[in-house]
Amino acid sequence: MSFSRKRILVSGGAGFLGSHLCTRLVEQGHDVLSADNYFTGTKENISHLLSNPRFEAMRQDVTFPLFVEVDEIYNLACPASPIHYQFDPVQTTKTSVVGAINMLGLAKRVKAKILQASTSEVYGDPEVHPQSEDYRGNVNPLGPRACYDEGKRAAETLFFDYHRQHGVKIKVARIFNTYGPRMHPEDGRVVSNFIMQALTGQPITLYGTGSQTRAFCYVDDLIEGFIRLMDTGDDVTGPINLGNPHEISVRELAERVIELTGSKSEIVFEPLPQDDPTQRCPDITLARNRLGWEPTVPLEKGLREAIRYFEGIVRTRG
Ligand code: NAD
Ligand code: UDP
Repeated sequence: MSFSRKRILVSGGAGFLGSHLCTRLVEQGHDVLSADNYFTGTKENISHLLSNPRFEAMRQDVTFPLFVEVDEIYNLACPASPIHYQFDPVQTTKTSVVGAINMLGLAKRVKAKILQASTSEVYGDPEVHPQSEDYRGNVNPLGPRACYDEGKRAAETLFFDYHRQHGVKIKVARIFNTYGPRMHPEDGRVVSNFIMQALTGQPITLYGTGSQTRAFCYVDDLIEGFIRLMDTGDDVTGPINLGNPHEISVRELAERVIELTGSKSEIVFEPLPQDDPTQRCPDITLARNRLGWEPTVPLEKGLREAIRYFEGIVRTRG
């Protein structure tokens, strides 16, 4: 099979998922441009790429227009953890909505294919379980999560309108909880929180009773799903769920982390945040059928990788 080198823009390229995606694309031989305002992403996340002539990093806020020539765009720019997206909710909605308009406008001008990093949060606190793509969701439009949920829903709308109205080639991925090395250690997401707490001997903070469920996908699996989706023909637009269908309670996750780190930390209970979904698990039938994709990394293996990464952070902090 012949290789065709592409020029690829990754917005949010210095973040957790973005840095892994840039790495994979550079390894495949493409020319990769990261555009990031470094709100939650860091230069350290991409430091291993900076000396590579196929990689370029620019400081750019996606709420401002961007003029570059590329063949493909992955639109990942947006804070993803509740702490970070609720820090400046107006900016979060702007990033999702105005950012989508700018990236779609760019895709339209240069005729690039564009993939949107959407989210399982578009299903809100779901009444249908597991969630398949035809479920329209149960989002509170007024609550503290709405800046993210509704911003991402509006972005999906924009993607489909640019597709219908302007013929832009779109791919919409609905990502479920993903974890792994380079997650921000203080972003408040459950995997990073529990591991950091376990490694530093702090109490493990279980919100509510811990009976709420999630399904955790290892980052390498997710990136493989992204690339397969981007490589599909024009007839595949999504939305398509990408996540691991192995569902566990948050309490079980805490117990696994304690076991794998050998930590002496105790579990403490804290109030459940408002609008925290009680259950979440992807139906990935569509991804299996259209992409031939499913996660391959078991939770224990992925958690060990993540623990190793956070151990490095704890060590350097002394
Ligand atoms: P992250 O916070 O590590 O990455 C987001 C990146 O976007 C950061 O580098 C940040 O600096 C950048 N950014 C934020 N606002 C920006 C702006 N206005 N202009 C330019 N850059 C900006 O989060 P992540 O986990 O890597 O998430 C990446 C994408 O995937 C996000 O769009 C998120 O909504 C989506 N997603 C992630 C998950 C997950 O579990 N990790 C789940 C669902 C959806
Ligand atoms: N959670 C928890 N303790 C923490 C952080 C999170 O019990 O220290 C819970 C949170 O209430 C939610 C789940 O873990 O039910 C996943 O939270 P996260 O913020 O990682 O992602 P979400 O899926 O809610 O967007």
